[in-house]
Amino acid sequence: MPIDPTLPYDDENIFAKILLGEIPSNKVYEDEWAFAFEDINPQAEIHTLVIPKGRYVSWDDFSTKASAEEIAGFVRAVGEVARAKGLVEPGYRLLANIGAHGGQEVPHLHVHIFGGRPLGPMILRR
Ligand code: AMP
Repeated sequence: MPIDPTLPYDDENIFAKILLGEIPSNKVYEDEWAFAFEDINPQAEIHTLVIPKGRYVSWDDFSTKASAEEIAGFVRAVGEVARAKGLVEPGYRLLANIGAHGGQEVPHLHVHIFGGRPLGPMILRR
């Protein structure tokens, strides 16, 4: 079920537990600002998630409340992971789902990195 991105941060969410090491993940990158791990249900040959270490529900929450340092650190981490995966030359896609229409399931901001093949249309057309 999609989450309500206007609710307060839930410390029990699954990505909070991954950050604390309470739930295992296939970690690919970590620095002061961000943590990246492989998506458990990959939608492309490469499907990696990058999350900020701070307690932010969504892009909306992050873009309004995070410090300039946190935002810069997170954005740089996303680029770092994509470079480390060799995705710059072939290209890749970033996606952040927000709330119901975005189909956001986990209430901790995450950016999906997709790559490894041509990814097709940007969104499902109906
Ligand atoms: P979203 O719909 O944008 O909220 O995406 C949530 C993503 O988290 C989905 O792609 C899930 O496959 C992924 N996911 C959920 N639980 C885990 C987990 N324990 N480890 C890695 N990825 C997960």
